[in-house]
Amino acid sequence: MDRAMANNTFSDNVRVLKSEVSKTAYQGVAVAIASIVIATLAVCFYQNGEISIDGIINAQKNNFALWILDIVPFVFGVWGQYSGSIIAYQASALIFDQTQELRNRAEDLEKQANYAVTHDALTDLPNRGLFYDRVEQAILSANNQNRLLALLLIEIANYKEVYDTLGRTSSDQIIKQISSRLQGVVLGADSVARIDGNIFSILVSDLTDGKEMELLAEHIQKVLESAFVVERLSVPVHANIGIVHFPQHGEDVDTLVQKAGVALFMATSSNEGYAVYEPSFDEHSPRRLTLMSELRHAIERGQLELYYQPKVSIQDEVLYGAEALVRWHHPKHGFISPDEFIPMAERTRMITQLTLWVLKEAFKHCAAWRKQGKKLTISVNLSAKDLHDPSLPDLIAGVAVSTGIKPEWVILEITESSIMTDPELTLEVIDRLSEMGYQLSIDDFGTGYSSLAYLKQMPLTELKIDRSFVQDILVSENDDVIVNATINLAHNLGFHVTAEGVETEEIMDKLKTYGCDIAQGYYLSKPFSVSAFDKWMIESKWKPASEAS
Ligand code: C2E
Ligand code: CA
Ligand code: CA
Repeated sequence: MDRAMANNTFSDNVRVLKSEVSKTAYQGVAVAIASIVIATLAVCFYQNGEISIDGIINAQKNNFALWILDIVPFVFGVWGQYSGSIIAYQASALIFDQTQELRNRAEDLEKQANYAVTHDALTDLPNRGLFYDRVEQAILSANNQNRLLALLLIEIANYKEVYDTLGRTSSDQIIKQISSRLQGVVLGADSVARIDGNIFSILVSDLTDGKEMELLAEHIQKVLESAFVVERLSVPVHANIGIVHFPQHGEDVDTLVQKAGVALFMATSSNEGYAVYEPSFDEHSPRRLTLMSELRHAIERGQLELYYQPKVSIQDEVLYGAEALVRWHHPKHGFISPDEFIPMAERTRMITQLTLWVLKEAFKHCAAWRKQGKKLTISVNLSAKDLHDPSLPDLIAGVAVSTGIKPEWVILEITESSIMTDPELTLEVIDRLSEMGYQLSIDDFGTGYSSLAYLKQMPLTELKIDRSFVQDILVSENDDVIVNATINLAHNLGFHVTAEGVETEEIMDKLKTYGCDIAQGYYLSKPFSVSAFDKWMIESKWKPASEAS
């Protein structure tokens, strides 16, 4: 609030309070005047045995007690005005201070919330989103002032190995130490960011020539060379560094990050452990790195399509719904599996657009089926990055309204690992989605480390047992026991259970005896295009329940 506005509010408060107090003072004056009149009349009557004008004048002239009484209204008036002003000022100041304090507290909380959304909880460094924003701003001002920029991606190459050997707590310690060392190199936290579990980035905005970056890369390698110490263990870390220059290698942040990724890949096979991007790298870099830039255009060029895989209720043999699975028809490479391009999209901001596209398509198809009276529930996969975005529930609500979908027709599938990377942020988003009426499912259950007891604390409705367990229940006693026990435990905790990877009738029969609720897998069908799915619904023995039932 600016000072002039604050002053106005303050004097308005004083005016209101003063007029309230004045009202009471005026009442006091009125009572005093009434007392004078009554007392004068009483004195007049007492002295003359009647009430007359002369008698009243005489009483007022000669009676000392009445003189004192006459002064009272003036005293009341002046005193009332004076003390009224003081009380009004004090009360207003009190209210004003308290309001200001509450406002400051609200501002602090807002700042804290914004900070959590834009920073990495472990290192306190800017996260991927904030880093992209900063690069965008730097590009704008570099364009205006004809300046050069550089961007470095630093990948901790042996991070997975460290994590597998030392566990989460110790690897977190190492990441923190790496973060401190990097901030020491560039003298300031703002230009360093952690954009992925094992990838840091640095934005350099006051460049004079390209050679500087190679010196910086060498310096970083040196700084990371001495081993990190955690729990009295000495742990060496190997880093690779990819470098790109603006505007030479790209004019927008996505292109720059993609090309830095190519340079990073080439750095792995170089002696120095760093590489500056060159266009010739594109030929040698793995397909995924060139695909990454093409994925950005895949949506607008209509190369993506949603396929649907049926989910069937095992006990009553009706078609329960379908899982939406995205497909990319690449003009040169043909069909590309989501297993290849989803992780790629997750490394850039593409995943947000992709998820939004998938939601729009899936909701549209589901609305059409419901209109035909088919009671189908649609399952949509969300990625970890989606769940770290606090605006996701609003985005979904927007798509639901524009397509005419009811939240209870939708199951949002999330994986254990997405909850684990940033539980606080993810839980907030999950809670909101659940409050809005969406069903939430834990996908690929059994492949992560979370326990059912932990998952129970979340507003989940469905648990999907990973296909790696289900596929082998007939041949592996171990998997058989795991699947059976998981179904029982999940039921006891109130979850619905879907078994993925149901490839044969025998598996389906066995799951039925275990009381499993829903099956999904090649035995029922592979994922289909919408038209093939519509045809399958006519021909197959599993029919959707009708909307009325
Ligand atoms: P998922 O969510 O576990 O999806 C199930 C995958 O298992 C699908 O692979 C499906 O084709 C395959 N599958 C289904 N039944 C069987 C079976 O009986 N046996 C075997 N061996 N496989 C079966 P798909 O379509 O290639 O998808 C792979 C993964 O890509 C998905 O795994 C999911 O994690 C991700 N994905 C797919 N579409 C999307 C999407 O729209 N958004 C996000 N974020 N991820 C997606
Ligand atoms: Ca899934
Ligand atoms: Ca799955």
